[in-house]
Amino acid sequence: MIEYAIGLDLGGTNLRAAAISFEGRILDQISGRTNLSEGRDAVIDDMVESIRTLRDRQEGRFAGAGIGVPGFIELDKGFIVGSNNLPALENFPLRDEIENRLGAPVVLENDANAAALGEKWMGAGRNVQHLVLLTLGTGIGGGIIHHGRILHGFVGMAGELGHITVSPNGNPCGCGNFGCLEKHASASAIGAMGRLLGLGETVTSREVYELAKQGNERALMIFQQMGSALGIAIANLVNIFNFPLYLLAGGPLPAWDYFAPTMIEEVQRRSYSYRHTKTVISKADLGDLSGLYGAAYLPFLTQSLKNI
Ligand SMILES: [Zn+2]
Repeated sequence: MIEYAIGLDLGGTNLRAAAISFEGRILDQISGRTNLSEGRDAVIDDMVESIRTLRDRQEGRFAGAGIGVPGFIELDKGFIVGSNNLPALENFPLRDEIENRLGAPVVLENDANAAALGEKWMGAGRNVQHLVLLTLGTGIGGGIIHHGRILHGFVGMAGELGHITVSPNGNPCGCGNFGCLEKHASASAIGAMGRLLGLGETVTSREVYELAKQGNERALMIFQQMGSALGIAIANLVNIFNFPLYLLAGGPLPAWDYFAPTMIEEVQRRSYSYRHTKTVISKADLGDLSGLYGAAYLPFLTQSLKNI
């Protein structure tokens, strides 16, 4: 009998869910209907409804649901304690509520951690046991996989790599720090630098990329700045972890050729272990499916822990 789990990815504006088999095959996939601004009950109804719909369409043994959410998670309690996008879901027993309604195991996880696990399971990290993933978006999310499992820290908040300091007196960040990686290398940061450098009052990271392709010097400089910030952060990660693989994902990835040379140069300059090992820095494989894969893998992982 086929065994499957359901992964749910709660994004900034909508949710997606997929039924995925234990072998890693996507069996079915849907998008939610609720706008996340409609408040807690509507969002939870939509999450439960999406999972039920997928479950009703499947035959086979349902291992449970994994849910990836943007924000800080208290793992033991199954709470979201801090989230820019989902304030309505904060400080509420989200995991237990959904678990009770479904009558099946539910695992709550930070979305970038889930994405890193997805890349380990079915993506660019298939052949390694340890990796770091950085997802470049509105902010920068991070996930650390050690011995095939998510590194959580003591509460569940490890891997907040977007808030590594890359410039001691850099741009202020919502987290309270200055010069966080995500203020210098996210898609939002690229747009902000573009506006600051007079590329247009509403210029987006995508448009800065188009300008770079046309040889615009200010646009090219922005990607060098971004590469430098990423390189500083990744050099720190290489020096801390000595992992074989560091992956980047997200909207700005098409601009790889414009930011990666500076990034690699910076890592080389700042990391002895990078220079003396076969450490790989590359693009993630699964695009926007990594979070769904990782979320779906969570119930399988929990199960195997219980079996031990
Ligand atoms: Zn920060």
